[in-house]
Amino acid sequence: MAYKINDGCVGCGACAGACPVGAISEADGVFVIDADSCIECGACTGACPTGSIELDA
Ligand code: SF4
Ligand code: SF4
Repeated sequence: MAYKINDGCVGCGACAGACPVGAISEADGVFVIDADSCIECGACTGACPTGSIELDA
């Protein structure tokens, strides 16, 4: 289980700056979370202005 960015993402990049392990990266304007690097701290969820990051159960 890891955190995942859903379709509500507007590409602001705030989450990438909030992640302590650099698990969030951008490619072609789309932000993605590397599930293998994510330590499930939840910091990115609080940083996202659109509430677009959720636990991928
Ligand atoms: S839950 Fe924590 S480690 Fe995982 S992507 Fe979000 S900020 Fe990074
Ligand atoms: S903070 Fe939210 S809206 Fe901004 S890039 Fe990350 S997931 Fe997308």
